[in-house]
Amino acid sequence: MQIEEFRKHAHELVDWMADYLANSEKYPVKSQVEPNEILNQLPDSAPKAPEDFAEIFADFQNIIIPGMTHWQSPNYFAYFTANASPPSILGEMLTSTLAAQCMVWQTSPAAAELEEQVMNWLKEMCGLPQEWSGVIQDTASTATLCSILTAREKISDYKINVEGITSNKYRIYCSSETHSSIDKAVKIAGLGSENIVKIEVDENLALIPKKLKAAIETDIKNGYTPLCVIATIGTTSTTAVDPVRAIGEICQKYALWYHVDAAYSGSAMVLEEMRWMIDGLELADTYVFNPHKWMFTNFDCSAYFVKDEGALIQTFEILPEYLKTNEKSKVNNYRDWGIQLGRRFRALKLWFVIRSYGVKGIQEKIRKHIDLAIELEEKINQHEKFELLMKRTVTLLCFRYKPDDSISDENLNELNQLLLENLNKTGQIFLTHTKVNGRFMLRLVISQTYVEKRHVDAAWDLIQKTASLIKS
Ligand SMILES: *Cc1c(COP(=O)(O)O)cnc(C)c1O
Repeated sequence: MQIEEFRKHAHELVDWMADYLANSEKYPVKSQVEPNEILNQLPDSAPKAPEDFAEIFADFQNIIIPGMTHWQSPNYFAYFTANASPPSILGEMLTSTLAAQCMVWQTSPAAAELEEQVMNWLKEMCGLPQEWSGVIQDTASTATLCSILTAREKISDYKINVEGITSNKYRIYCSSETHSSIDKAVKIAGLGSENIVKIEVDENLALIPKKLKAAIETDIKNGYTPLCVIATIGTTSTTAVDPVRAIGEICQKYALWYHVDAAYSGSAMVLEEMRWMIDGLELADTYVFNPHKWMFTNFDCSAYFVKDEGALIQTFEILPEYLKTNEKSKVNNYRDWGIQLGRRFRALKLWFVIRSYGVKGIQEKIRKHIDLAIELEEKINQHEKFELLMKRTVTLLCFRYKPDDSISDENLNELNQLLLENLNKTGQIFLTHTKVNGRFMLRLVISQTYVEKRHVDAAWDLIQKTASLIKS
C-alpha cells in the first residue's frame, strides 16, 4: 500500500470509526452469531495475490462486525467494562503509527520518561503512597505474577531464580473470592496450586482477617513457610472489598509479602470519598489496577505500583551484552520491570486520556457511574419482585428476579438463568451472572464510557418486561 493510498483509506476509516462510536448503541451488544459462523466465511488459505483495500474493508464490515460483541456500546453491562474513549483511540493510532518497541530507554526515551511521569500522575490522582514507583503492564494477571515472583525471590534472597525451588513449601493466602489470575500466577511461579490457602469470607464476601491469622499460624506449626497474601479491592464476582489495613497488619507481624489487586475498582480511587477502600495500602508491597477497565483507556493498560522497585528489578533483570547501555543508572529500562522484553508504547494513550478529560473530567465520569448505580440500586430495592443480593460497593449490582416468596432457590436459579438468556438474546443489553452460596444472580455493571441515565433506565425497563413474560 502506497502512502497516498494509506492516507485516503485512513480518512475513510476515521469516518467509519466516528460513525461507529456515534451509533454503537444500535448494534446488538452481544454478538448473535452461531459457533463457526465467522470461520466458515473465511477462505481456507491466505490470498496469493494482493487484494484491494476496499474489498478487505467491506469484509471487515460484513463478516467481522456481526461477530463482534460491542464493548463500547452504552448498553454493555456485562463482566467488567473494558472501556475506551476518543482520546485513547487517538493515542493508540499514533502508537501504532510510530510502532516503536520500547524495551529500554534508548529504544525511545520519550516512551520511558512519559511512562514514568504518567505513573506518577496516576499515583497522585488515586491517593497511592507517593514513594512508590509505577510501571505499565499489559494486564492485572501479569502484574500479579510479577508480584508473586518478586515475593518468591525476596524471601529466597534471589536464589530461586538461580537454583530453582529446593525444599521450602511456600504458602500463598487469599480469599475464596480472589480472581483466577492468582491461581494461575502461583502455578506459573512454580509454587504449586496446592499451596494456595483460600481464606474464608464474611457475609459481604470480604476476607476475614482472624481466619487468615489462624491459617498462617497453623501453617507455621506444620512446617510451611508463609510467603505472601493477596487482598482484593473489588472482587470480580461481586466487587467485595477485603480489609486492606487489617490484612496488612497481619502481613507485618509475620513479615509476609502483600499484594493488593484492585483491577476494576481501583479507578474509583480518583474520588476521595472512595479511598476508604485503600486505607492501609502503605502496608502493602505492590498494587495493581486497570485503567483499561474503568479509566477510559483502551485495553491493554494495567497500572502496577511497587514499594521496592529494586526488588522488582532484581527479580527480572537480565543483562546480555547486546542489551547493555550507558544510561542504566539514570533512567528506567522497563524491560527489567516485568516479564516481556518487548513493550508497546502504552503510556501515550493514558497521557492523552488524562490530559483530555483532566482529573476533574475523569472524577465526574466515574462519580456519575456510581450515582447511576445507586439510583438503580434503589429501584431494585423498591421493586417487590426483584431482590438485591449483595452489597454494592462501586457500580456493580447483583440481583435476581423473585416473583414470589414461595419459589425455591433452585427454581429461582433456573428462572434467572432463563431471564439472562432472554435478555441477552434481544441484543439490546448484555449482562452476565455470578453464583454466590448456590444462588444464581444477574450482574449489572455501570461503567461504560458512553453510558447515560437513559441507557440504564431502558435496561431496567427491559429487565422488568422480560421477567414478566417468563412463566414461572
Ligand atoms: C479483571 C480482573 C483481573 C484480571 O485482569 P486482566 O487485566 O484481564 O488480567 C484480576 N483481578 C480482578 C479483581 C479483576 O476483576
